[in-house]
Amino acid sequence: MLTEIHVVTLFPEWFDHLKGMGLTGRALEDGRITLRCFNPREHAEGVHRSVDDRPYGGGPGMVMRPEPLSRAIEQARSGSDAPVSGLSPQGRPLDQRAVERLAARSRLVLVCGRYEGIDERVSETLIDEEWSIGDFVLSGGEYAAAALMDAVIRLQPGVLGHEASAAEDSFSDGLLDCPHYTRPEVWRDRRVPPVLLGGDHAAIARWRREQALLRTARRRPDLLDSAGLDSAERAWLAGHTDDEG
Ligand code: SAM
Repeated sequence: MLTEIHVVTLFPEWFDHLKGMGLTGRALEDGRITLRCFNPREHAEGVHRSVDDRPYGGGPGMVMRPEPLSRAIEQARSGSDAPVSGLSPQGRPLDQRAVERLAARSRLVLVCGRYEGIDERVSETLIDEEWSIGDFVLSGGEYAAAALMDAVIRLQPGVLGHEASAAEDSFSDGLLDCPHYTRPEVWRDRRVPPVLLGGDHAAIARWRREQALLRTARRRPDLLDSAGLDSAERAWLAGHTDDEG
């Protein structure tokens, strides 16, 4: 169970607003999970306490200097054998399976890059794994760290409560989630599917499963191969894939 998140960041104040916001923020605020930030600037020397410098070989941008960053990482990981996770567009794509594995750790150590990134020698020696949240470039690892943290915290026991079960969300069973509806029953001439109003729980469960299958087939067919469908579901899907617009 996750109890500690240590974040290496030049912007510790960035994380202040996460506390108390929503169910995952509450877990940080009430201390079920402690969030600590480690700022490389506090380990920087000299009048300017600079944490970045120009890249060798020239070119635009700055690079995070190894000395202050490495000291902050070492402080963040001390007292635990938790792997150090860097956030990087060059990392492994973060998916729900990876999030589930990260959620089983007791401490997460997250390293946020800025500028052009961190000195490669720090990556080689102090970062155990790198995670990307998508094929696009952010200006800082803080955005990616916050996304990873939220995904991991919501899987901790008791965080979501009964009302929102992570087990029914997209990807948990390999499929996208089914559509959801709430009151009113008719909105702008669009009706809630009648099966959801009838109280037949078996029929509702079947409809939800079918909708999840259809959505996945239409929007993310790449997920179907590893979603563990049985032959009846495959046959049903083959006969219905043109039904949903
Ligand atoms: N020069 C780097 C490159 O092209 O691979 C991009 C550096 S980016 C401007 C600054 C920092 O933002 C990175 O060091 C990383 O920590 C973070 N970052 C940017 N995009 C990311 C993504 N897709 N996933 C995770 N972290 C990302």
